[in-house]
Amino acid sequence: MAEPGHGTGVERSLDSIGPGTIALLGIPFDEHSSFLNGAALAPRQIRAVLHSGETNLSAESGADLGRESRLKDVGDLVLERGAGALVQIEHAVAGLLSRGARVLSLGGDHAVTLPILRAHAKEYDSLNILHLDAHPDLYDEFEGDRYSHACPFARIMEERLASRLVQVGIRAMNPHQRVQAQRLGVEVVDMRHWSPGFQPRFDGPVYLSLDLDVLDPAFAPGVSHHEPGGLSTREVIGLVQRLEGPLVGADIVELNPERDVVDMTAMAAAKLLKEIVAKMLDSG
Ligand code: MN
Ligand code: MN
Repeated sequence: MAEPGHGTGVERSLDSIGPGTIALLGIPFDEHSSFLNGAALAPRQIRAVLHSGETNLSAESGADLGRESRLKDVGDLVLERGAGALVQIEHAVAGLLSRGARVLSLGGDHAVTLPILRAHAKEYDSLNILHLDAHPDLYDEFEGDRYSHACPFARIMEERLASRLVQVGIRAMNPHQRVQAQRLGVEVVDMRHWSPGFQPRFDGPVYLSLDLDVLDPAFAPGVSHHEPGGLSTREVIGLVQRLEGPLVGADIVELNPERDVVDMTAMAAAKLLKEIVAKMLDSG
């Protein structure tokens, strides 16, 4: 695992990374959370439940991730405080992508997705984003912070880091963010219009950004912003399993272990991690 004083901490793990690798990257960062801290503790907690013996490493497809040589855990980033952390995240992800790896990152609050996608945009001319979240995260700024976890998808679209952004699970859209969604060309599938089995269609590479508060708080209480009326764990698993097109990258963000109940949200994150890795393995 990474130690302080070695850049972002992942450099020593890079020798084993090459084309076809799926790199599991922890991003212990919650400086841009607006309400509660705690998401920085998430990578450690997700790994802890994943390897606790409470579950095994099999995805539902039968893929045994414990025997999968293409999956490599490169540890947690060691991040400075302040604006430099976002640059560190971008450089670390870019380093992995330049070796031909795909990255599944464990946040962290949702602010981490902006630097992650800045790195992906250099590799992919035309990227589709599937964003699962209770919140659109489209504020122009939130409480004076343009890099708040309430803002990343405004920056991502302004910087043209993706050709399409499709948001599913949204149920906290206010008038400002509705204007932003229209201005930025975001496709919003809000919960009012959700029906079981719905599946967005994509042409080309897909990046999945999974905010765990897309789940109903009954399934996932360990998040900073409870928004009742969300998706079930089964429905999110279905969205991942039915995803078409190569899945070229993903993040799982906003687990707050300090609000969790008997690690049930950490386990939901671990479960979704397994299904996302299986989908990545399945899609080349
Ligand atoms: Mn979010
Ligand atoms: Mn959210």
